[in-house]
Amino acid sequence: MQNKTITQLAQGLRAKEFSSVELTQYFLNRIEKYTDLNAYITVTANQALQAAQRADVRIASGNAELLTGIPMAHKDIFCTQAVKTTCGSKMLDNFIAPYNATVVKKLNATGAVNLGKLNMDEFAMGSSNETSFYGAVKNPWNKNAVAGGSSGGSAAAVAAQLAVCVTGTDTGGSIRQPAAFCGVSGIKPTYGRVSRFGMIAYASSLDQGGSMARSAQDCAILLQSMAGFDVKDSTSVDTPVPDYCADLDKSLAGVKIGLPKEFFTADVNADMAKALDEAIEEYKKLGAEIKEISMPNLKYAIPAYYVIASAECSSNLSRYDGVRFGYRCENPADLNDLYTRSRGEAFGKEVKRRILMGTYALSAGYYDAYYLKAQQVRRLISDDFKQAFSEVDVIFSPVTPTPAFNIGEKLANPVEMYLADIYTIAINLAGLPAMSIPAGFIGGLPVGLQLIGNYFDETRLLNVAHAYQQVTNWHTQSPNLDN
Ligand code: GLN
Repeated sequence: MQNKTITQLAQGLRAKEFSSVELTQYFLNRIEKYTDLNAYITVTANQALQAAQRADVRIASGNAELLTGIPMAHKDIFCTQAVKTTCGSKMLDNFIAPYNATVVKKLNATGAVNLGKLNMDEFAMGSSNETSFYGAVKNPWNKNAVAGGSSGGSAAAVAAQLAVCVTGTDTGGSIRQPAAFCGVSGIKPTYGRVSRFGMIAYASSLDQGGSMARSAQDCAILLQSMAGFDVKDSTSVDTPVPDYCADLDKSLAGVKIGLPKEFFTADVNADMAKALDEAIEEYKKLGAEIKEISMPNLKYAIPAYYVIASAECSSNLSRYDGVRFGYRCENPADLNDLYTRSRGEAFGKEVKRRILMGTYALSAGYYDAYYLKAQQVRRLISDDFKQAFSEVDVIFSPVTPTPAFNIGEKLANPVEMYLADIYTIAINLAGLPAMSIPAGFIGGLPVGLQLIGNYFDETRLLNVAHAYQQVTNWHTQSPNLDN
């Protein structure tokens, strides 16, 4: 049952092969069996079974949607009414959201069943899920390895089949990198395509919600119900949402795929380069034209990103002051003590590091040298992409320099951790859509390939990803969880 796609499960539900209650119970049992992966922070079993009952009634009445009755789960960054929403932090360990994020509301309206809330790096800051207050997520393919981050719980839940599909968010790679590490598919849409209302803010000009699942097609189905204009998010874009499944089977004949030469250097692990070369060959066979392109400013993406993201987070996280919501220290002596101890006791090391870096970059005297400079670099990077998309339709690249590293391996060296984001970060600076899909294995660990599209061209991205999944079976492999 857990191997089936959304469409197959929807058919099974309609044909009464199984009910949504049975399907939901089946996934709840798996979640309980594999708690050692630490993919979930909160499991909402009772609410899920009630939602499944309602879904069964709706299916019987004949007005169900594809997602009605399908067990899914949310990254714990999306506010869920009456359910704990922690954002992976001690700061919000006691926070029960009073309302639903727009994404949650939209998915509830489809009748999808929410199984619970997925583990993540604290406030989405991290690349390994090790900054979570609730502990690291284990990679289902090798429990000594990280699941990636920040949407590590999301990726692991899909890989271990503890949910059919899930939501994630991506500020600098947090959907694509864990998807690659866990061998699942994930799409970060164009900035502004999915509402950020009720999605806890990390770096507002970069954060974007998206979908993760076993296949590009399932990502398309989930994204369809998440996307769209929202008056409650002033940066959401008011353009119609196309049918993301309409072009899935379109031929790739004549589609131009660009390879940025700056991404295919000796820095890419040799086995990774081989897997990517094989994928490029598949694309040639599918009729795509491969073209080398150059994007000279990509190399500045990491420093620019870590200045901008830290600056924005230092401002966004100032709201956690121990007064309005979240953690409050015991017996504060005065207001200052309340602020400093509440923040000092409840934020983790990485979050504090970012707040310090961001506050520094924004302070008078350093603003021009760091923040302004980073924004200028950001423009140059966007211009590189603009130039590239005048030559090609889609850009192909690695997602990560290596497969998943071991838990603990990079914790002592934050800069090394940041450098691992080299292939994903520029896309957020430019606000473009991008996908990660499975492209092979190295030493038993999955590797992904990245496809980057032009603004609002998610339909083509999904088409190019789906075409590859029709001729390969990397995405249908499952880890052995019982060893
Ligand atoms: N690893 C990056 C960071 O730590 C990206 C995280 C994300 O996309 N949320 O900021």
